[in-house]
Amino acid sequence: MSNMIQPDDWNDRDNGMAPTCTVEGAADAPVPADMVRGKLTPNAPLDKMVWFQSGGKADWLFEPADKDDLKAFCEHLGGSMPVMALGVGSNMIIRDGGVPGVVIKLGKAFMDVEITGDTTLEAGSAAPVSIVARRAAKAGIDGLSFFTGIPGSVGGVTKMNGGCYGRETCDVLTSCDVILPDGQFVTLSNADLQYSYRHSALPEGAVVVAARFEGFPGDPETIKAEMDRISNERKDSQPIGSRTGGSTFKNPPGHSSWKLIDDAGLRGFRHGGAQVSEKHCNFLINTGDATSTDIEELGEIVREKVYANSGIQLEWEIRRVGRP
Ligand SMILES: Cc1cc2nc3c(=O)[nH]c(=O)nc-3n(C[C@H](O)[C@H](O)[C@H](O)COP(=O)(O)OP(=O)(O)OC[C@H]3O[C@@H](n4cnc5c(N)ncnc54)[C@H](O)[C@@H]3O)c2cc1C
Repeated sequence: MSNMIQPDDWNDRDNGMAPTCTVEGAADAPVPADMVRGKLTPNAPLDKMVWFQSGGKADWLFEPADKDDLKAFCEHLGGSMPVMALGVGSNMIIRDGGVPGVVIKLGKAFMDVEITGDTTLEAGSAAPVSIVARRAAKAGIDGLSFFTGIPGSVGGVTKMNGGCYGRETCDVLTSCDVILPDGQFVTLSNADLQYSYRHSALPEGAVVVAARFEGFPGDPETIKAEMDRISNERKDSQPIGSRTGGSTFKNPPGHSSWKLIDDAGLRGFRHGGAQVSEKHCNFLINTGDATSTDIEELGEIVREKVYANSGIQLEWEIRRVGRP
């Protein structure tokens, strides 16, 4: 996989232009249109697909019909273009110049959640993890209620090791199915993913198509009460109804990012159309007309000011992708 073109390589190989093709299925599509059953769209706007509602277009957007369709697509692509999976965009800044190569967006065919045993379940990677939590609770499977606090998809948490309230995806994920950028289908175990705080070793360009989880026996009513508590707490403490990307920076060991940002006097600080949330300082907000540049620049200003105030370097948690 090492010689494949990946999103981070774009500046070496990309001339800054989207492909000239504007017709679906035309000859310079990444793969011939009759090779796939899903939808392949050139120059596809992505702003409505991410929580920040900002940013440019994908050179190509592929919405596969199902797993086999995605596999065939990647096989035909043969690593000739970078590939990036997009979940529900709740942890993502899409830069204003758009995303080179192909963005893969999984839909209905990847949303099933199935109880597979007394304490186990399997979910398609487009399923929201809040639904996974709800299905688990109903089946008396405890240990996944923290997913209620995360607005992402199964694919997103698998990659990001999403977590809250002292639990993380790595505590409950047993394995996941992945399609590599050359079309290979592999199953990766929890150990293969080498999880750490908000990080996994998922190969660049790999698309998670399903994941398996294991909890422990619990009482549905008790689990539901815990989920309600988490939801209510989140509503009170986070700008959930805003155009945001979740926690902007990882918490440095022994510190909370929100506190460092607050101590630097940045609560409510604005840059262009972007603002540090008044409600939760580690959240940035698009107040209406922010570009992704505004949001990313605001993040960099926050990093500089926090460093000047505390000597601590904040590290981005939000994924920032594409051309500036
Ligand atoms: C209001 C709010 C609250 C939040 N609270 C939390 C929290 O408490 N804890 C927490 O951990 N996060 C939190 N987040 C961040 C976010 O929900 C998580 O990081 C989540 O895991 C992202 O999932 P997503 O589907 O939105 O992924 P995206 O934002 O779409 O993508 C994130 C990364 O995952 C990759 N990815 C997505 N789908 C796939 C796939 N199928 N295969 C391979 N890679 C994929 C993308 O390429 C990208 O690198 C919050 C966000 C918001 C907006």
